[in-house]
Amino acid sequence: MGYANCKDCEQEMTPGTACKFTHIVMKNGNVVKRDIQGFGQTICHDCNSHLGGPHHYGCDAERCPICGGQLISCDCFGGTIKLVHYTAINTKGD
Ligand SMILES: [Zn+2]
Ligand SMILES: [Zn+2]
Ligand SMILES: [Zn+2]
Repeated sequence: MGYANCKDCEQEMTPGTACKFTHIVMKNGNVVKRDIQGFGQTICHDCNSHLGGPHHYGCDAERCPICGGQLISCDCFGGTIKLVHYTAINTKGD
């Protein structure tokens, strides 16, 4: 059987594939960098992201960049989690 596809970056979550979405938008509009895979393991046990790369959304190991809690169960984003590509930020201007 294959691997599941990330519903955001649409990549197949094969071992060593990090999410393409590097930042997350909070409910107040601030854009913050997402937690990265960095627990000393080479491949994330849940989403297969590689060390140093963003987790795929929904990964139970991704921490909230604001409170440090588990992202999928924290409240910092008002229940509406919006991921963005870093290039989208770079082209935003000003
Ligand atoms: Zn992804
Ligand atoms: Zn992960
Ligand atoms: Zn939080």
